[in-house]
Order: sequence, then structure tokens, then C-alpha cells
Amino acid sequence: MASDCLFCKIAAGEIPAKKVYEDANLLAFHDIDPKAPTHVLLIPRRHISSLAAVCGEDAGILAELLCTAPTIAAQLGLANGFRTVINTGPDGGQTVGHLHLHILGGRSMHWPPG
Ligand code: AMP
Ligand code: ZN
Repeated sequence: MASDCLFCKIAAGEIPAKKVYEDANLLAFHDIDPKAPTHVLLIPRRHISSLAAVCGEDAGILAELLCTAPTIAAQLGLANGFRTVINTGPDGGQTVGHLHLHILGGRSMHWPPG
């Protein structure tokens, strides 16, 4: 756990979140500032700073994140589709330095993103 990391604190139960899914390695909770009718963040419980830091020995967690997203989307009723996003670094729009997969749905998404 990174002691100054918001999502580590959520994973540890030190900061409350509206959880929608959890297993041994992953946790999902509603985004506090939703950008769509449904907006969930799926994170590894273990601290990994970003997509840029995950490859190599941690790469398996990426498969877990991506392969769990459809399960969560189905659980949340997103039968018409959903969008997954990983923002990386300042230009990527990453504001929390703990790897997270955005799962957005409940409306039609635009492309390209802003
Ligand atoms: P990103 O900008 O890709 O790093 O995404 C970080 C996300 O975390 C944003 O969508 C924020 O709204 C969300 N967020 C920040 N603080 C919290 C919190 N305490 N609980 C849930 N989501 C949060
Ligand atoms: Zn963390």
C-alpha cells in the first residue's frame, strides 16, 4: 500500500466508496464525479502507479482488469454497451496515481474523446 494514495486507502477501507464488485485482487466502486449515468472505477488492490508501470511481472493484472469489466458492466445493466478508459500520465488526463480502469455506460458515447 502506498500511504499517500487515495485508491489504496479506498482498497484498505480507510476512505468510503460505493463498492460494486470485489474479488481477491480487484475492487470496483462508483466514481465520485460521474461522467456518464454509470461510471465505475475498477482497480487492482495492490498499488500500481499507472499503465506505464504495469507491464512485466504485473502484466497479468491487466488481463484481470479487462476481463472483469464485462462482468461488472453486465451486473450494472449495461446491456447496450460500455466504454473502458485508462488515462495515463498528465497528458493522458490521469489524476490519481493508482492504476484504474474507467467503465462508463448508460448513454451513447462520443468519438473521438476530448
Ligand atoms: P483519472 O482522472 O483517470 O485519474 O481518474 C480518477 C477518477 O477518480 C476521476 O474520475 C475522479 O472523479 C475519481 N475520484 C476521485 N476521488 C474519488 C473518490 N474519493 N471516490 C471515487 N472516485 C474518485
Ligand atoms: Zn495506490
